Amino acid sequence: MKCIRCSETAVYRRVYSGELLCATCFSSSIVMKVAKTISQYSMIEYGDAIAVGVSGGKDSLTLLYILNILSKKHNNRLIAITIDEGISNYREESLAIASEFSKALGVEHRIFSYKELFNNTLDEMLIIRDTNSLKLSSCSICGTFRRRALDIAASKVDADVLATAHNLDDYVQTFFMNVFAGDIDRIGFMHPKPIRYARGLRKIKPLISIYENEIIFYAMINNIPFQADQCPYMNESIRNDIRRFLNSLEKEHAGIKYNMFNSILKISEMIKGNEKHKKCNICNMDSSMDICSACKMKMLVTKI
Ligand code: SF4
Ligand code: ZN
Repeated sequence: MKCIRCSETAVYRRVYSGELLCATCFSSSIVMKVAKTISQYSMIEYGDAIAVGVSGGKDSLTLLYILNILSKKHNNRLIAITIDEGISNYREESLAIASEFSKALGVEHRIFSYKELFNNTLDEMLIIRDTNSLKLSSCSICGTFRRRALDIAASKVDADVLATAHNLDDYVQTFFMNVFAGDIDRIGFMHPKPIRYARGLRKIKPLISIYENEIIFYAMINNIPFQADQCPYMNESIRNDIRRFLNSLEKEHAGIKYNMFNSILKISEMIKGNEKHKKCNICNMDSSMDICSACKMKMLVTKI
C-alpha cells in the first residue's frame, strides 16, 4: 500500500479520514495539525516564553519535541517543567527521562516538587487521606496540586504561556468527567482559545486534536524515549473507566472520538463566557470560587 501523499510505502492508516501515510508524511501531518491548532486558537505569539509541562510520558515529551521544531521559526523560548509529585518507585525514572531528553533538545529543564511547594509528597498526602477516611481519589488530589504547581512554576520561570500535553482522548474523557460531575461551567473552560488570566499567563493544550495512539506512534517513529510504566495510583480514577468505555466505542465505530471532539468544541464555544473569574481569599491565585480548590485540598490532606 502506498502513502497517499508521496507514494512511499504506507505504515499508518488514519481511521477517521481513511488516509494511508508513510512514516515521514505521518510525522509531518502531526506537526502540521499541532501548528494548525496553535494558530486557529491564537495560542502562542511571536517571542513568547513557553513553559512546557513535561512529565516524562509520551504525550509531554512529544509536545516538547514538536514545540521545539515550531518555536525555532517564531523566536519562542522553551522551558521544560517537571512536577515531582513524590510517588516512590515511579517518578524517579520519568524525571531522568525528562531531564535527559530536554538536554538533548537543548531546552532548559526545571523540576518543582509537591514537597517543596506544599510541604508534603503525594505519598504522604494519601496517608493523611486514608488516616482520615476521606473519600478523595488519588488523581483528584494529585491533579489539583499539579495544576497549581504548574501555575507557580510557569510564574517562577517568567513564562507567557503554559503548554500541557492533553491529547484528544484526554479532552473527550475530561468532557465526560465534567458531565458526570454535573460541572457544566467547567465545559466552558475547555474551549481551546486561551483565557488571559490576570497575571497574563495563557494556558494552552496544543495536542488536543491528536489521538493518543497517534502520539504513541509519532513518539516511536521519531525515537522519542518515554516512561511506559503507569502510575501505581492510576486505576483509582474514574477517568480510567471512561477511557475504557470510549476505547470500546471507538473499536466498534472508528472515528467516533474525533466526532465527539468536534462536538465538544462547539458545546464549549456555546458555554464559554459563563465561567466565574475571582481571586482566592487565601492564596490570591485565580479561582472560580472564593477559596480555590488547591487551598481547600491543602486543608484536607497536607500537614504544615
Ligand atoms: Fe497523579 Fe493520578 Fe497521574 Fe498518578 S495517575 S500521576 S496519581 S494524576
Ligand atoms: Zn487559594
